[in-house]
Amino acid sequence: MLVAGIFYASGDTLVPSDKPGRNETLLWRQPTGQGGVQVEVLNALDETWTPSFEEYIQKWDGGYSNGTNSIDPLSLSVQRVAVDPECEPIMGKLKTCNGNYGETDWRGINIALTDENNYIQNSISKYNDYWINLADTQNTDVQRKYTMCHELGHGWGLPHTDEEYFNEPTGECMDYTEFPQDNLNCGEYNFNLLHRLYGNTERRSLRPGLSLARAQSTGILNEYRAAVEQASRDVSCADCRLDLSNGYRIFVHKLLP
Ligand SMILES: [Zn+2]
Repeated sequence: MLVAGIFYASGDTLVPSDKPGRNETLLWRQPTGQGGVQVEVLNALDETWTPSFEEYIQKWDGGYSNGTNSIDPLSLSVQRVAVDPECEPIMGKLKTCNGNYGETDWRGINIALTDENNYIQNSISKYNDYWINLADTQNTDVQRKYTMCHELGHGWGLPHTDEEYFNEPTGECMDYTEFPQDNLNCGEYNFNLLHRLYGNTERRSLRPGLSLARAQSTGILNEYRAAVEQASRDVSCADCRLDLSNGYRIFVHKLLP
């Protein structure tokens, strides 16, 4: 497992972890270094977020090229589903949702459920309109793009590339910044990391929907719902882990307002 982190407690309570640095990648499958990684993404966003979603799905799916070399580790498929602010998770998929969640300590949040083998079973990325609505018009677009790019990145299991807000922006959206307009790229570092884990995908364009087989467990999903509710509201959890039964865990990353 590549998840490291500093854990201050254990048991059924929220475990604050070290902010997800470069070694804290979550995995969708065994990292064989071959074949790329396929992720099915559900668009449960409303029309205000869908343009940013579509823009960044294309960017993440398109891979990285520096002119001579190109790498393409992500193979994404997108399915439009009903707008769902509650963001009910779907096993085997990354679901993206928005809504006015009130004055939370996050503008964007990603929550991944992992199983006893430490593989992601489902993931949700949520975008809080409360904070977007407070931004001025120019910042709204930039914040949408940055937040979209960032939370999708967590959706693939990526950690942060940098966690200082006020240093020189790297240009990458997994870099925390006070200047989101400078960090709107998916970033070479992130594509290289995914490429080291999964290799290149074989194809070059967005695929139609495909179903991955994941075990369904009602018991785990009930625990999951309670844990998501707790973690979403608990301000002591900025980046945290919560252990569920049978080796399942959730990992929470919040992007602060
Ligand atoms: Zn983050």
